[in-house]
Amino acid sequence: MALPETADPPDAPARPPAVELRGVNAWFGSQHVLRAIDLAVAPAERIVICGPSGSGKSTLIRCINGLVPHQAGTIRVGGRAPGAAGPRIGMVFQAFNLFPHLTVLENCTLAPIHVGRMERRAAEDLARRHLERVRILGQAGKHPAQLSGGQQQRVAIARALCMSPEVMLFDEPTSALDPEMVQEVLDTLVGLAEGGMTMLCVTHEMGFARQVADRVVFMDEGQILEDAPPREFFASPRHPRARSFLGRIP
Ligand code: ADP
Ligand code: MG
Repeated sequence: MALPETADPPDAPARPPAVELRGVNAWFGSQHVLRAIDLAVAPAERIVICGPSGSGKSTLIRCINGLVPHQAGTIRVGGRAPGAAGPRIGMVFQAFNLFPHLTVLENCTLAPIHVGRMERRAAEDLARRHLERVRILGQAGKHPAQLSGGQQQRVAIARALCMSPEVMLFDEPTSALDPEMVQEVLDTLVGLAEGGMTMLCVTHEMGFARQVADRVVFMDEGQILEDAPPREFFASPRHPRARSFLGRIP
């Protein structure tokens, strides 16, 4: 019997994970900050990472894009090791990290021109598309200091998108914002998630986790203690430390 055209052939290899960590361990001096981390993220999957301060969330994110070295285990993004000639990984930090002396548009075109070797005109067209996507094109000629925190963070997201990342990493993207600006940035992240971007996002915004996450990863003391769909994680966290963590989140 003929298989439906949409079915994969029975012996097709499974699609490789977009991000895969196996047995990843990292130390700062004698402090063991990542302990035997295993994590596989499928293409277009959305992962929210949460856990107490100091549990290793930022270190994990930074290891994935090669900002922090790991001493054991393997990390692959799109099947390749992170690094200079490696996969394209977009990163958005808590503190927007825009270049203050450049306009919004120039912040977005800098890397495509100097790293991606794109023509200025093409880089500007691309930047305008992404600025439009985060609904901030009207501010393209301004400098970061002339924008609100929420606007700056949306520029930081557009800037990351300009490098056509295979994966986007977010490290507490709303934690430095005034409360009234959190939602506009979360809305931008929801838009990205709905567009099929593979995302790993460290955040304590549990409403966001419920809305978009495919899985919630809970970390404590350098370990992943839970990795579950949000419905399951919030309804019945298995680990006592996850329960007490959730109890402390507003
Ligand atoms: P989280 O993001 O979950 O708050 P981090 O990954 O930032 O946690 O930190 C995990 C642990 O590693 C903490 O104890 C922190 O003090 C330590 N740490 C983080 N970055 C460094 C660094 N650059 N040098 C030394 N220790 C660090
Ligand atoms: Mg952190």
